[in-house]
Amino acid sequence: SSATAPIRATLFPGDGIGPEIAESVKQVFREAEVPIEWEEHYVGGQIDPRTQSFLTWESLESVRRNKVGLKGPMATPIGKGHRSLNLTLRKELNLYANVRPCYSLPGYKTRYDDVNLITIRENTEGEYSGLEHQVVRGVVESIKIITRQASLRVAEYAFHYAKAHGRERVSAIHKANIMQKTDGLFLKCCREVAEKYPEIQYEEVVIDNCCMMLVKNPALFDVLVMPNLYGDIISDLCAGLIGGLGLTPSCNIGEGGIALAEAVHGSAPDIAGKNLANPTALLLSAVTMLRHLELHDKAERIQNAILNTIAEGKYRTADLGGKSSTTDFTQAIIDHL
Ligand code: NAD
Repeated sequence: SSATAPIRATLFPGDGIGPEIAESVKQVFREAEVPIEWEEHYVGGQIDPRTQSFLTWESLESVRRNKVGLKGPMATPIGKGHRSLNLTLRKELNLYANVRPCYSLPGYKTRYDDVNLITIRENTEGEYSGLEHQVVRGVVESIKIITRQASLRVAEYAFHYAKAHGRERVSAIHKANIMQKTDGLFLKCCREVAEKYPEIQYEEVVIDNCCMMLVKNPALFDVLVMPNLYGDIISDLCAGLIGGLGLTPSCNIGEGGIALAEAVHGSAPDIAGKNLANPTALLLSAVTMLRHLELHDKAERIQNAILNTIAEGKYRTADLGGKSSTTDFTQAIIDHL
């Protein structure tokens, strides 16, 4: 019913349960009349020499052109001579920040009912630079790279995000007391950016203390920004606070304003093709994509339908202790729109 031209977005349904949960997203978006036209791309059956990966050059170009996309789980085939699919996407699209909103789902009981935080993980360097070698027998070395450029970029994104989403505080998570040079530089960059955002409170929390505080009282946190490895661990810890990886969305932010949303779980080969998968994480990831596009009304409407369906408790997939199929659960969400 909208008069404006549809927005083109790349969709990677992915492997295993990917196509089933992607179908669920397509259906819900259609019923909610979201003005998006999907450009579907599948992982290829052979290596594309231009990307050295099972992802084709055309797939990467599609994301670069559309600047927005949604990705299902991908299972990297075992074998030599190619790059991991997720690594290819991260490197080629320069996906520098991984953003994971994490909030308690009303009606789905966990130990906490007041979690409402965002983790923002630096996604390109730190301990994940892939620089490891043996110095002499029995001694190996792994190089942690922290650069001013990447630290400023992710800090800038965190403060920008906090301001745009009406958040009050950004906490930089670190271990600068031990990693004085690397985490020290990361903190210095966060401080510099913080000065440009006087309306946002800024604090620094040591990672070990942060873990203790998160499990004792997650409501203490608002937006957390951190280097790669800490972000990898803390973001999964936070997912656990609200019920697990089947529920948590994420969005990768790349150079030039690219946003590639993705569910954080894998392809779940054990239940693939059985109409059992929970599409919530991919649906909520699609919602973060809508928010990135500033389609806030549609985002709100779909998010509420998902949350209300889960809260009502009548239709839930097996991972949440229910008996519903993927398609029945999806239909229930559509009925709640
Ligand atoms: P997994 O997340 O696929 O599965 C772990 C467990 O969680 C399984 O029991 C699975 O059935 C369950 N599960 C996961 N998502 C679910 C959902 N939406 N609904 C219901 N149950 C769900 O992890 P894994 O088994 O370690 O990995 C399987 C494959 O996925 C591997 O090839 C791995 O490389 C790939 N993987 C991809 C990504 C990604 O693309 N981002 C992430 C993790 C793993």
